[in-house]
Amino acid sequence: MPVLVMKFGGTSVATLDRIRRAAKRVGVEVAKGYDVIVIVSAMSGETNKLVGYVEETSPLFDAREYDAVVSSGENVTAGLMALTLQEMDVPARSWQGWQVPLQTTSSHSAARIVDIPTDNINRKFGEGMKVAVVAGFQGISAEGRITTLGRGGSDTTAVAFAAAFEAERCDIYTDVDGVYTTDPRICEKARKLDKIAFEEMLELASLGAKVLQTRSVELAMRYNVKLRVLSSFEEQSDEAGTLVCDEEEIMELNVVSGVAHSRDEAKMTLVSVADRPGIAAAIFTPLSEAGINVDMIVQNISDEGRTDMTFSCPTNQVARAEKTLQDCKEAGSINFAELKADTEVCKISVVGIGMRSQPGVAAKMFKVLSDEGINIKVITTSEIKISVLIDRKYMELAVQALHDAFELEKAA
Ligand code: ASP
Ligand code: MG
Repeated sequence: MPVLVMKFGGTSVATLDRIRRAAKRVGVEVAKGYDVIVIVSAMSGETNKLVGYVEETSPLFDAREYDAVVSSGENVTAGLMALTLQEMDVPARSWQGWQVPLQTTSSHSAARIVDIPTDNINRKFGEGMKVAVVAGFQGISAEGRITTLGRGGSDTTAVAFAAAFEAERCDIYTDVDGVYTTDPRICEKARKLDKIAFEEMLELASLGAKVLQTRSVELAMRYNVKLRVLSSFEEQSDEAGTLVCDEEEIMELNVVSGVAHSRDEAKMTLVSVADRPGIAAAIFTPLSEAGINVDMIVQNISDEGRTDMTFSCPTNQVARAEKTLQDCKEAGSINFAELKADTEVCKISVVGIGMRSQPGVAAKMFKVLSDEGINIKVITTSEIKISVLIDRKYMELAVQALHDAFELEKAA
């Protein structure tokens, strides 16, 4: 039997009624002849509540017990989903991570999947089970302890099962009906994409389009898992949602597929640091050890052996970054005249695979921003992405102007 993986996120299983609606969709796929693996998240809000319990009980908690507590939300929905399917006369049973067993590394709260043996579940399919309802987000370490995969990890569970079972597709049911050209709350002309390439989705996911956990997209790309993002709140059809797939399956690649934004960025500048071998390492190694997520980095041209170094990081990490760099200055490992922080910036990015073969996208982006009187503070590029830092007050304007200029409201 062909296998289909269906993943239901927290809002899609938030109440018993919604679990029933989700189970009906599963029933439709079973009737088409699939063996179905359903991956469930915890009911929405549940994981946050459990994390809160842990932090209140033990601020410097033992990560193994954190995982024991926080993984439990998924156990509840897995059991309820299996019961709901049984009530509909669909042969189903629940599986917790350790029962599969989904084997992971021992990095608690951020574990990575090592292996998903298929024999236990396949044997049950062979005995007439039609649906395996698997608790997402959790696994078991070599030491036999329960682990979790990091927030949003059920997406990764789903894709990993699709790869292990060579599923025909992995459908991710969520509360939005697909991936959009930009955030519809900012730009009313935002359009749902029918298809998007893995690489583009990876850029958009890591830029904060919170539809899919970034790791799940990496995994889908590596194993060429066809991923579909669709809403569990709308009527189902075979064309619904957005297909995230290999670029070869997309006829006409978009030059630009989407405009992404990231609101809470800060720009930090070390004024006049010595321009010598090892200076970048002396700055960025302690920052990374302090857990600062440095994104863009620009080193200015040097003058008389001194240079300015600018980087961006999330606004809420500025204080920690400042402390780290001042400590380095005191310790003598780096020397700078001044440390400036601009916390009123945002990042805007245009993403598209077609950029690889079409020059002029960056020039057009800069022209659009200049026509709106928006000053660009930092620029970085990759093969399929151009990002700029600008003043946060222009964020909406920039997104809308770029969306218009690249005509993203029109289907390619
Ligand atoms: N319930 C977990 C979380 O909220 C995992 C998931 O839903 O993907 O992060
Ligand atoms: Mg999620």
